[in-house]
Amino acid sequence: PQSKLPQLGTTIFTQMSALAQQHQAINLSQGFPDFDGPDYLKSRLAYHVSQGANQYAPMTGVVPLRAAIADKTEQIYGWRPDTDSEITVTAGATEALFAAISALVRPGDEVICFDPSYDSYAPAVELAGGVLRRIALQPPAFSVDWPLFRSQLSTRTRLVILNTPHNPTATLWQADDFEQLWQAIAEQEIYVLSDEVYEHICFADQGHASVLAHAGLRQRAIAVSSFGKTYHMTGWKIGYCIAPAVLSAEVRKIHQYLTFSVNTPAQLALADMLRAEPEHWQQLPDFYRQRRDHLARALATSRFEILPSQGTYFLLADYSAISSLNDVEFCQWLTINAGVAAIPLSVFCADPFPHKLIRLCFAKQNATLDAAAERLCRL
Ligand code: PMP
Ligand code: GLN
Repeated sequence: PQSKLPQLGTTIFTQMSALAQQHQAINLSQGFPDFDGPDYLKSRLAYHVSQGANQYAPMTGVVPLRAAIADKTEQIYGWRPDTDSEITVTAGATEALFAAISALVRPGDEVICFDPSYDSYAPAVELAGGVLRRIALQPPAFSVDWPLFRSQLSTRTRLVILNTPHNPTATLWQADDFEQLWQAIAEQEIYVLSDEVYEHICFADQGHASVLAHAGLRQRAIAVSSFGKTYHMTGWKIGYCIAPAVLSAEVRKIHQYLTFSVNTPAQLALADMLRAEPEHWQQLPDFYRQRRDHLARALATSRFEILPSQGTYFLLADYSAISSLNDVEFCQWLTINAGVAAIPLSVFCADPFPHKLIRLCFAKQNATLDAAAERLCRL
C-alpha cells in the first residue's frame, strides 16, 4: 500500500537496542533502568490481581489513581486538577501525546516544536495533517531564543510542544521560559503540550518548573507524565495527562478509541504506591544524581567531554576528540567496536545537526556504568 508515513522507519531506540543485542554491547542507548522497581509496587500489583481487579478500568482511569495524582499535583505545583474532568490515565505518555496531538491538530494547523525533539511528536502531527515548524536549539545550553520563537508564530499556529526536563539534551525550562511562552501566545488561541515525563528526575535546586504551576498557561495546556520513569517500570506503560475539562474532553474522545482504558490492577497498585511511599519520588533526584555523577566521574579520564545534565536519566558526551564520524555512524561504530551503545542526536532534528554529541543513559547499576566507562576510556 502507499504509506501514510513514507519517510518513517523504525525508531532509533529499537534500532540501537537491537544492534546492542546483536553485538552484546552494554546498552546505554534506549532509556530504561537495568534495575527493578519498588517491591511494594510489585506486591500491590499481585494483590489487586489476586483480588479480582481484572476487568476494564473506567475509561478515564481508576478513581484512587486519579485522586492520588490530584493530591500529588497540588502538593508539588500548588494547584489541584479536578479528579473527574481534568485527569486522564493513558497507556504510557506515548498514548497521551498521540491522543493530545490527534485531538487538537486539524489539517493545515501549524505546530511548533523545538529540535532536538522526542521522536513521537512529528509523526503524530503529520498524521493529523498538521504542519510542523521546528525551531532548532543550539548546544550546549539548548535554550529557546524567544524573539525567534515569536517570529515563527502565525495565525495558523495551533499548538506548541515542549519537553522539560528535556530528552535528549538533559536541559531544563525555567519558570521564566513559561512566562515568555505565555507572553507570546496569550492573545491567540494556541494550546501547549508539555511533555514532563521526567518531572521527578530534575537536579536543579529550585526543582522542576511545570506548565501546571503557571496560572495562565495551565488554562491552555495538556501536561503529560509517565509512571514508567518515576517507578523504574518502563514496561508497565502507564502515564497520564492533566488538562482543563474542555481539553480533556477532546483528548478523551481519542483515548476512548485508541485504548479505551488501561491496565486495571497496575493502576490500583500505582495509586497505593503514591499514597504509601511518597518518599520514592521525593528521593528520585538524589537517586539519579548519584548515578549521573558516578558515570561522569568514571568518564573523567576519557577523551569524551561530558556536558552538564540537569534532568532526565541521560547525559550528553562530545566525542570530537575521538572521531570525525557523524553521530549516527559513530554510535554504530561504538556499539560494534567498543561494545557500548548510545543514541545519536541528529535523528531528533530536521535541520542538519553537525555536532558530535551522543546520549548516554545512566539509569543503570554502578557495575554496568563502570563496565561501560572502562570501555569508553580506552578510546
Ligand atoms: N516523552 C519523552 C520525552 C520520553 O523520553 C518518553 C519515554 N522515553 C516518552 C515520552 C514516552 O513515555 P512512556 O514510556 O510512558 O510512553
Ligand atoms: N523514551 C525512551 C528513550 O528516550 C525510549 C522509548 C522507546 O523506546 N520508544 O530512550
